[in-house]
Amino acid sequence: MKVKQTSVLMALLAVLTFSCKEKVVVEPMEEIESESDGVITHSEYAGEEPTTPEETEYYEPKVPVVKPGENGAPPSDAIVLFDGSSLDGWMHTKDSTAAKWHLNKDGSMTVADKTGNIRTEQEFGDIQLHIEWKSPLPVQRNGQNRANSGVFLNGIYEVQVLDNNENDTYVNGQVGSLYKQGPPLAMASVPTGEWNVYDIIYHAPEFNEEGGKTKSATITVLQNGVVIQDNTEIMGTTPYIGWPKNPPHGKGPLMLQDHGDDSRVSYRNIWVREL
Ligand code: MG
Repeated sequence: MKVKQTSVLMALLAVLTFSCKEKVVVEPMEEIESESDGVITHSEYAGEEPTTPEETEYYEPKVPVVKPGENGAPPSDAIVLFDGSSLDGWMHTKDSTAAKWHLNKDGSMTVADKTGNIRTEQEFGDIQLHIEWKSPLPVQRNGQNRANSGVFLNGIYEVQVLDNNENDTYVNGQVGSLYKQGPPLAMASVPTGEWNVYDIIYHAPEFNEEGGKTKSATITVLQNGVVIQDNTEIMGTTPYIGWPKNPPHGKGPLMLQDHGDDSRVSYRNIWVREL
């Protein structure tokens, strides 16, 4: 009888000890949850293995709702930079005067010969960018002089715009290249005279207080739905002559290039979402 009582006591003690152990595991989890507003942190993923589905689920903060654009329209939270109605918000980089490119009746704009690059008044850091462009017909000239333009992120990093259809040039300067740095993964242009689409995800570089770069910019580009730059590291500026440079900077404009040789490239439907 005495032996039986001892066994029951030992069993009870074992249950209590087990419960205590369970509690010790739960308490720090609750602390971490309150510190991070319910968001599961990386340190928690390395912690005790969860035993219930609820331990790996959270509900706050809520994710913003974005209404996708219909028939090529921008999504509901986009900042529209050009919708075809005017060139408001665009200016020439050389003298900050209002943009003098041609505004066309079809809702596009075209580089006006030798007027210079244009940029947005607004400045951005990390963005998702949508921009459509078209090379003119009839084709004129060859290589880098055939419908050359460019989309400059932060105003200084160029994604090349060029009519490369049956028109060879150096691959790190062809259409879709990060100019003189990274050739595209594929040549995905539509026929000359039709509209190309660039969807770009750009993350700006970071600099320390002394102006040294601590993190490179990166860029992902889809041309007409085809990935042509896949999280490519941007080594620095994209000059015609010389190595990439890394001047420290913060936010910058979106800039479009007038290559200076009557390229007559057209653009339309330009919008960004800040990331
Ligand atoms: Mg160019």
